[in-house]
Amino acid sequence: MGKVGLFVCTGCDIGKAIDVDKLEAAGSEHGSVSFEKHECLCSEEGVALINKAIESGDVDGVALAACSNRYMVDTFKFDLSKISVERISLREQVAWTHPHGEEDTQMLGEDLVRMGVAKCSKMTLPVRLTEEVDTTVLVVGGGLAGLTAAKAASGLGNPVVLIEKADVLGGYLNGVKAAVPEVPPYDRIHDNPIAAAVREVQNDSNIKIYTGTTTKRIDGQPGQFAVELKNGEKFKVGSIVQATGGRPYDATKLGHLGYGQSPDVVTTQELEAQLMQGKLARPSNGKKPGRVLFVQCAGSRDENHLPYCSSECCAATLRQVATIHQKNPEVECAVVYRDLRAPGQLEHFYKGVQEQPNSLFTRGIVDKVTTLGGKLTVGIKESLLGDDLVLEADIVVLAVGTCPNSADGESIRKVVDSKKRIAANESESQVKAAQEILDQFSEHEGTEILNLTYRQGPDMPVLKYGFPDSHYICFPYETRRTGIYSAGAVHAPMDPAQAIEDGYGAAMKAVQVTNMAQRGEAVHPRAGDIGVAEFFLQRCTQCKRCTEECPFGTLNEDVKGTPEYNKLRCRRCGICLGSCPERIISFPDYSVDGIASAIKAMEIPEEDEEKPRMIAFLCENDAMPALDEAAARGFKWNPWIRVIPVRCLGAINTVWIADSLSSGLDGVLMIGCKHGDDYQCHYIRGSELCNTRMTNVQETLQRLSLEPERVQIHEIGRNDFEKIPEIFESFASTIDDVGANPFKGF
Ligand code: SF4
Ligand code: SF4
Repeated sequence: MGKVGLFVCTGCDIGKAIDVDKLEAAGSEHGSVSFEKHECLCSEEGVALINKAIESGDVDGVALAACSNRYMVDTFKFDLSKISVERISLREQVAWTHPHGEEDTQMLGEDLVRMGVAKCSKMTLPVRLTEEVDTTVLVVGGGLAGLTAAKAASGLGNPVVLIEKADVLGGYLNGVKAAVPEVPPYDRIHDNPIAAAVREVQNDSNIKIYTGTTTKRIDGQPGQFAVELKNGEKFKVGSIVQATGGRPYDATKLGHLGYGQSPDVVTTQELEAQLMQGKLARPSNGKKPGRVLFVQCAGSRDENHLPYCSSECCAATLRQVATIHQKNPEVECAVVYRDLRAPGQLEHFYKGVQEQPNSLFTRGIVDKVTTLGGKLTVGIKESLLGDDLVLEADIVVLAVGTCPNSADGESIRKVVDSKKRIAANESESQVKAAQEILDQFSEHEGTEILNLTYRQGPDMPVLKYGFPDSHYICFPYETRRTGIYSAGAVHAPMDPAQAIEDGYGAAMKAVQVTNMAQRGEAVHPRAGDIGVAEFFLQRCTQCKRCTEECPFGTLNEDVKGTPEYNKLRCRRCGICLGSCPERIISFPDYSVDGIASAIKAMEIPEEDEEKPRMIAFLCENDAMPALDEAAARGFKWNPWIRVIPVRCLGAINTVWIADSLSSGLDGVLMIGCKHGDDYQCHYIRGSELCNTRMTNVQETLQRLSLEPERVQIHEIGRNDFEKIPEIFESFASTIDDVGANPFKGF
């Protein structure tokens, strides 16, 4: 057990709220060997006091009871490879949120100090990783986003390898004649810049290019990926950008819009092929059309096809109308749209095209395209005029949406696993279950792109529409595989201007991860964390929970199922720690023992004192910042609840709940990020896993004849700060109603 120096700030109302001198005894009960107080611990003098104690070597850890750890970050910055630090939030959780001078407030302050000191005394010092790191960036896909990422990473000084499965670079834009405006006055088309972008990359000696090939296998982790291409080339890279683009939605599924019924109903891409050749003719008879009618959102924003907006089809149609009118100003171009989405400077382009003679833009939903007497008739509903309309056209262009060129790594993994289980001919029920999985996911087999040798599958996990993203709200360039980033149309539907921006973003992340790997630091959200997980594998039962539940594919398995930890893939979320029934996973500053010690350090009043005690585990990503904000805004809350920050709701080991209830605590509350389709959990599925694990907790409660209300989970967003006091109050009142924990005092 480490020796802890306790430092208490009396400023920011802390000294007015509680009798600070009594904290010395509270701390010493749990390992503090020294006590210092200062009226402004964040002053030069205050920090010097702490540094003096550290330098003396008399303490192994510092318990710093002052403001929340989200404040004074630079002031209270110590070398964490030399000293353990635990911040105890007396300002936000006591002085600003509870009445000064009251017994309950004093008890709260003393408990927080006991808990912080107890946790700090269990911390160990992390050893900074000093692994050999390759800084090369591999870019998979040579379209606009990939070319941009390659050029950007090279410009930042990292060597780049660019691979493209086609024989030439350029991707989708090779098949496009003109470009939407990217320079003022933004009202007319430009030459397609893809050839120039390709030349720039080809002329960069820092970029090695392989065309006509794909990856065969990628092993390893950030800073140390070993890549083998199908052409036999082998090399090492530090990070990867997947820019494999998108593909048009399958128009054969749009029979109601006439596709397949008449050759004169074409897709955006089929019309573009004509324009590339300088042609404009009806496919049925080769004659120039009098009217071309564009159907926007063909398959997009439609629950039966692509429920999302494909983002670039409106700009593509504007570009095609402008291209047609350059050579054929007499051809009427009618555009039927639901909402014409022309964000940013594209609005000028939209206006420019709209003002061209022979352009007609009308709002409505095309519900039917039929052929009548050699003409196409287009039925339009919900038009701006109110009535249903019918327009005739010679060519109908379906502005079909975009699907990502991704592979669903997790589903591929399920297929492979199921096949193995069927081949092993395990029990009848297992074979049946495996067959069901196979029926559901077999279409994913053979779609591999990256060919990662990850336990959780050979490609990046994808969201429900197939985009390999992880958290579009907070980390728009992240995926669920550390060191691998997606860019361009595979990442999200986007137009070329956005693809350029996305290529830059992904390149920056790809460069950043190699820098952080060199420094032995985690990438965000725990950016800069140098502690890694430790697995006490002698006690591992190969239950595989950690390897299955790690959201980032960090853990591989040996043949027996023992986890193999790839440190540089790890985000330090602690979900494995939460999952392990043997409790053998820990971090230097976050361990099962450390949190359990904090729980046990709380003082639990006797039942007749009528002071219930509850613990609240709050996720450090959304709930803790929300709590700090509630404090800063002057909200007050119930004094019976003690808060323990956790890395994620998924990083709560259920033994802490059992410990809490068996040590006489009256209730356990958990507050974390939301989960589900509008995912917000910073660790993807931590909140969800916590909910799943709680089913077992509720069963335990029933067995012990404890009321289910004693353990509750709430999910909030970062901005829901006003809900924190409400949740605390309602939980306290529930516990008051159900009464004291019958195990109190045992
Ligand atoms: S800490 Fe998180 S990312 Fe690291 S191994 Fe555990 S579950 Fe995976
Ligand atoms: S969860 Fe724990 S016991 Fe199970 S495989 Fe992982 S380390 Fe081993």
